[in-house]
Amino acid sequence: TDASPALQVDDLVVAYGRVQAVRGVSFTVPSGGLVALVGANGAGKSSILNALAGLVRPRSGSVRFGGRDVTRRPAHELVAAGLVQVPEGREVLATMTVDENLRLGAWHRRSDADERIDEMYGRFPVLAERRALQAGALSGGEQQMLAIARALVAGPSVLLMDEPSMGLAPKIVDEVFAVIAEIQAAGTTVVLVEQNARRALRAATYGYVLESGTVAHEGPADDLLADRRVIQAYLGIE
Ligand code: ATP
Repeated sequence: TDASPALQVDDLVVAYGRVQAVRGVSFTVPSGGLVALVGANGAGKSSILNALAGLVRPRSGSVRFGGRDVTRRPAHELVAAGLVQVPEGREVLATMTVDENLRLGAWHRRSDADERIDEMYGRFPVLAERRALQAGALSGGEQQMLAIARALVAGPSVLLMDEPSMGLAPKIVDEVFAVIAEIQAAGTTVVLVEQNARRALRAATYGYVLESGTVAHEGPADDLLADRRVIQAYLGIE
């Protein structure tokens, strides 16, 4: 129903053998919101996103997407339902062309795939210019834009973004964050995982700070940015 949050995660546990990466994490993502999950390397952020996207099976806990329980649903079903991840490390298919990468993103859209791909070319002109090139020949920033565009052609209602600023030059990071703001402004709910905590919280409406697989702090992003404990542990002095 309309009153349901876009995502509701309860007591999520993700483990790899004996390693518990996520130890009972709960959070809510309101429809239309931009929620940031921040925290140190290894805090469990990617494991949470992968569990939400159906790429890792949680050991326990539940994920509700638009009010429906989708725990342990496979990734392809979730994508078709509108829950789509932009993977860490800009995992574009390097030996396929830009156009082929976008077509893959639209695999489940029959009638309007071409239309959606053209829309992405309008939005990311650099991708239109390079549509026939192998994705591996693009710059890091262009590959990140391609990874985002490939997720957007699927028509997500919720977009999961894993470290979109990783390894990019500061000017390109600005461009990526501008695109994230546009995506949210267009009505798509965003869950943003970032090591760049300050940047992510500035973009976000609400944030969760993860520590060793648990939620250490949460609150409106502006409150976290002003929280002495969060500043000391994660943000540092500017
Ligand atoms: P990063 O920013 O480095 O991706 P993160 O906060 O996203 O960190 P995760 O990648 O979720 O954290 O990792 C959490 C813990 O789980 C770490 O101790 C990591 O070594 C471990 N881990 C992650 N993936 C696997 C895996 N496939 N097999 C075994 N252990 C894993």
